[in-house]
Amino acid sequence: MNDAQLLRYSRHILLPEIGIEGQERLLGAHALLIGAGGLGSPVALYLASAGVGRITICDGDAVDLTNLQRQIVHRTASIGEPKVESARSTLAAINPGVEVIAVHERLTESRILELAGSADVVLDGSDNFATRHAVNRACVSLRKALVSGAAVRFDGQVAVFDMRRNDAPCYACLFPESGTEEEVRCAVMGVFAPITGIIGTVQAAEALKILIGVGETLAGRLLLVDALAMQLRTIRITKDPGCAVCG
Ligand SMILES: [Zn+2]
Repeated sequence: MNDAQLLRYSRHILLPEIGIEGQERLLGAHALLIGAGGLGSPVALYLASAGVGRITICDGDAVDLTNLQRQIVHRTASIGEPKVESARSTLAAINPGVEVIAVHERLTESRILELAGSADVVLDGSDNFATRHAVNRACVSLRKALVSGAAVRFDGQVAVFDMRRNDAPCYACLFPESGTEEEVRCAVMGVFAPITGIIGTVQAAEALKILIGVGETLAGRLLLVDALAMQLRTIRITKDPGCAVCG
């Protein structure tokens, strides 16, 4: 690290759990982020400000006026631009020292596998089950740590599926693809702006801890946040031996 980096990251370096060694791990790390929306915004902002050296952001959409109520990485002037390009310019203004790779695509399963191959951690901030399951399958087959988040209305949830471990449950153990879980979309149901910030920020914290190798993550636990009552609880998730993906 040069002098400017030592200053930029000084409040991390002061933490005994991080120090110079932990910060250098972040600078050398590659995070793959799926989605540059409500969850992806705070994830991208914190990964970049905290100095994750390489961040690949994937999103096929363009910035829309209805996004700006919660998707805090985007600006009014960016309406109509690809979200990944808009995010890349915001992140470059905050921390020009990190490399942001913008992937403006609707991801296919083979593309997710290709992108996840070189990632040290995968963060899912997508808004639909098809993508979440495809990302999960890729993380199971490549044995990557997946930090998964979701938010709608006043409710949110976060979990870590650390597929580097043999006993780890995967996303499909919790939500089987054949399940009856109904897709609830923000566009239809509405979403309270800060819940996406709360959930995305927890995702960023979990990813940074995974990259540094410190603390206890939400591996094997699901954190549920009810922002209307402001109640948080965690429930245990166990591996389903009959899971179609990891069983
Ligand atoms: Zn599973």
